[in-house]
Amino acid sequence: MRDLNMVFASLARSRFRSRFRLGTAELAYLNARGLPVILTHAADFVSKRLAPAEPTNDGKQTPMRGHPVFVAQHATATCCRSCLDKWHAIPKGQPLTQSEQSHIIAAIARWLEEQCG
Ligand SMILES: [Zn+2]
Repeated sequence: MRDLNMVFASLARSRFRSRFRLGTAELAYLNARGLPVILTHAADFVSKRLAPAEPTNDGKQTPMRGHPVFVAQHATATCCRSCLDKWHAIPKGQPLTQSEQSHIIAAIARWLEEQCG
């Protein structure tokens, strides 16, 4: 698993990843519910859509918009198991450990905090 500071430094150099921004509705939703609640949604998405060894529709399981966490996942390369493997050095083909899931939530939280600040 790659250190989050290193991952964020790499993400900042990617035109594709660094272009993601929250839309008006997603930002309003984040502010209305608050980050702690939004992060419980993130934990739910990660455990259902990413944590299995072979997630359903892997590579297409994360919509591009509609929830602040979805946008954060594309921006932080935590959208699918291939991106987690390539960017975060979290290997595909095996269930995510609890510490890997915590790392993913931390990446999402850090990106969302940057968007609010
Ligand atoms: Zn992906």
